[in-house]
Amino acid sequence: MNASMRTATFYGAEDIRLEELTRPEPEPGKVLVKVTSTGICTFERRIFSGAQKHIPMPVIAGHEVAGRVVAAPADTGLTEGDKVALDLVYRCGRCYYCVRGMDNQCVRLFKEGLTWEGRHLMGGGFGEYVSVDPAKVFKVDESVPDHIAALAEPVGCVLHSFGKTTVGLGDTVAVIGAGTMGSLHVVLAKLQGCKVLVSDPDAERRAFAVERLGATAAVDPTTHDPVAAAKELTAGRGVNAVFVTAGVGAAAEQAIEMTGKYGSVVLYAASYPPAKVAVDWNRIHYNEIRIDGTESRTRDDVRRAVQLLPGIDLEPLVSRRIGLDDLPTELALGVPRGATQRVVVTMA
Ligand SMILES: [Zn+2]
Ligand SMILES: [Zn+2]
Repeated sequence: MNASMRTATFYGAEDIRLEELTRPEPEPGKVLVKVTSTGICTFERRIFSGAQKHIPMPVIAGHEVAGRVVAAPADTGLTEGDKVALDLVYRCGRCYYCVRGMDNQCVRLFKEGLTWEGRHLMGGGFGEYVSVDPAKVFKVDESVPDHIAALAEPVGCVLHSFGKTTVGLGDTVAVIGAGTMGSLHVVLAKLQGCKVLVSDPDAERRAFAVERLGATAAVDPTTHDPVAAAKELTAGRGVNAVFVTAGVGAAAEQAIEMTGKYGSVVLYAASYPPAKVAVDWNRIHYNEIRIDGTESRTRDDVRRAVQLLPGIDLEPLVSRRIGLDDLPTELALGVPRGATQRVVVTMA
């Protein structure tokens, strides 16, 4: 009789059940990890609300995961007790994009078809143990608390986003939307010596961005013109980059107006329902403005995020830590509002 583990398993919209399943055993070629912390991302909240379509059920989700190594193959350099962050998507390593290092666009992403006792695994961080390919495991410095190590994945996504720009010391950037992903853009922009303008209609989020994260200024786009605010910070030029973390067409159009010559607009958020954006051809042409998308993260982005974690303070970005038993209640609250940032599930 194998030992058991607890999971929170999605069975459908607004149907998540606490279960007791068999615990995975160490297996050749795999790393067995005891999960310590799993961040609740928009993806899992949308599975719960039913907005995320085409998810096979039942499913154990949770993809922002930190844990401790229980057992690992000798050639991985990992040993029992190591603190690790996990990169829980499947990257085939042989498609056109993987070969070119663009493995965030792997054509087989998520198509690994893993299951555990009849439950699909999309991450699996809402369970106490996962058995994963060594390529998905990144050792984290002991100084990083588990609930912060769980943020390696979203930090990797934001590093990918910054990679679309050339911003650096002395530049000014704008971040539209100050939820967790917007806030992470603020933190990493500050780290790179940038002035940061935040645009968000929520007063609590604006205050959080300025007071807790050190944003230079914050503007309410419903009462003040973010374009004027962007120009004010840059002697009328417009900012070097705008990161759009709110998926509404108007925000993208505003971003193009906020950007100065040689500047970048990065569409970070997805838009549901899909939005069409009107662009001023000549504004793009004469000012040499780049418009880029950014999606997820490569393995290398996760590696870099893990290297970065000991040197940055992400503590303000974890608003609450809850137990696995509290996950159904937390998801029923819906998308976090106000200054609430990541809620992280921690396991004993
Ligand atoms: Zn995520
Ligand atoms: Zn691939």
